[in-house]
Amino acid sequence: MKAQPAASHFVDGAYVEDKAGAAIEVVYPATGEVIAVLHEATPAVVDAALASAARAQKDWAALRPVERARILSRAAALIREKGEELARLETLDTGKPLQETRVADWPSGADALEYFAGLAPTVTGETIPLGRDMVYTIREALGVCVGIGAWNYPSQIACWKSAPALAMGNAMVFKPSEVTPLGALKLAEIYIEAGLPAGLFNVVQGRGAVGGALVTDPRVAKVSLTGSVPTGRKVYAAAAEGVRHVTMELGGKSPLIVFDDASVEDAVGAAMLGNFYSAGQVCSNGTRVFVQKGIKARFLDRLAERSARIVLGDPMEEATQMGPLISAAQLEKVTGYIARAKAEGARLIAGGGRGPANDGWFVEPTVFADVTDAMEIAREEVFGPVMAVLDFETEEEAVARANATEFGLAAGVFTQDIARAHRVIAQLEAGTCWINAYNLTPVEAPFGGAKRSGVGRENGHAAIEHYSQVKSVYLGLGPVDAPY
Ligand code: NAD
Repeated sequence: MKAQPAASHFVDGAYVEDKAGAAIEVVYPATGEVIAVLHEATPAVVDAALASAARAQKDWAALRPVERARILSRAAALIREKGEELARLETLDTGKPLQETRVADWPSGADALEYFAGLAPTVTGETIPLGRDMVYTIREALGVCVGIGAWNYPSQIACWKSAPALAMGNAMVFKPSEVTPLGALKLAEIYIEAGLPAGLFNVVQGRGAVGGALVTDPRVAKVSLTGSVPTGRKVYAAAAEGVRHVTMELGGKSPLIVFDDASVEDAVGAAMLGNFYSAGQVCSNGTRVFVQKGIKARFLDRLAERSARIVLGDPMEEATQMGPLISAAQLEKVTGYIARAKAEGARLIAGGGRGPANDGWFVEPTVFADVTDAMEIAREEVFGPVMAVLDFETEEEAVARANATEFGLAAGVFTQDIARAHRVIAQLEAGTCWINAYNLTPVEAPFGGAKRSGVGRENGHAAIEHYSQVKSVYLGLGPVDAPY
């Protein structure tokens, strides 16, 4: 199986190669096969990408918002037309099953293009009366924005960042994760096919150093990163040096609190979706499932039964529900967490092994019960299909323990008591919350984290604010009253 693109980078409307950059082998996680070899961007490629973005951005920002919107809408339609081809490429890049990549990855990217195409022309300013004089405001583009992606949702991330950026009149230089570099190149092709002028969406490949070169370039006005907290700290600090705007979408260790009165089937289904989708490699996963004692036995029984039925295997097979982890390194990390959870006394009630074939980078959907707050799997982001179930007695206790983490990306509550649902959600320190649902992230809703999980928001009206700035214009309508 090969998925070699025409070249490594996409700059100023065309594929660009520079083999002087270090090689990046793209591996299909289901087989370990090298499906493409790309090269890291050299300083010359980075410079060309930023220069063409800066050149193209001014004319783009000067267009009417409906004209920009028309192009984004066309790109969304092309993504939907090419749905099957793009889903297969995403599966090769990530190892996620077609069951997911057909409905979640690119389709949610297309949603973002459609949504921001619709929203951009509605963005207006204020007029502020001051008696004789007045102030009016204009929401302007920032300029050249840099997007840096994680490997778990490579194409969705490229769309979620570029759609609001472009809709508001910015240009974007995007660096995908070196682990999953293929989808963003396709997006660049699609934008050009849809009529986007050259230079407005450039893709450069590379590891952290290439990201670092982008973040510190004086031509860059904004940096949006999706990645881990340690990377976020570095990128935020580097961006601060140039007083750049930032959006940081970082990691999590999110709580899902299930009260005694919840529907067991719904809560179990949500806990599984919130731990096993994309083989658990989702930032907002509810990896600490707090279950009230009265419902615990029934919850664990159903969870163990349903988890054992998840179909692992070839991601290209229609029936497969869970693919491998992204890499050998991730497999080692996740199996290490499983081994240490057992050693710390967590009770394994499902999975724990490497799957039927016992080879490849697969890990079974794994559930630990009787987890305590102090255990490593209750504190650290595993980023694999490993659920920790903890028990609690009172609402106050659940809230306090749910909040006892440096992360604050997401949180969920299952209960039939509507007052309790809102009361608990109001106290949870998280940017993205669900009541009687989990991990649904429609583009209409702002998405992002509190505490160490990030700053800024993607999606929703909120994203518009993070890809624009307000110009305030004072209009003097009478003589200038100078005291000199
Ligand atoms: P990572 O932090 O290792 O890398 C993220 C990106 O940053 C990559 O493109 C990488 O090349 C780049 N990078 C690394 N060092 C850099 C530097 N010094 N300067 C500039 N760029 C640099 O993360 P990952 O392993 O690709 O992804 C997994 C992590 O991402 C998890 O922690 C997960 O929770 C998080 N994540 C968060 C969200 C969200 O929306 N909050 C979504 C998906 C993933």
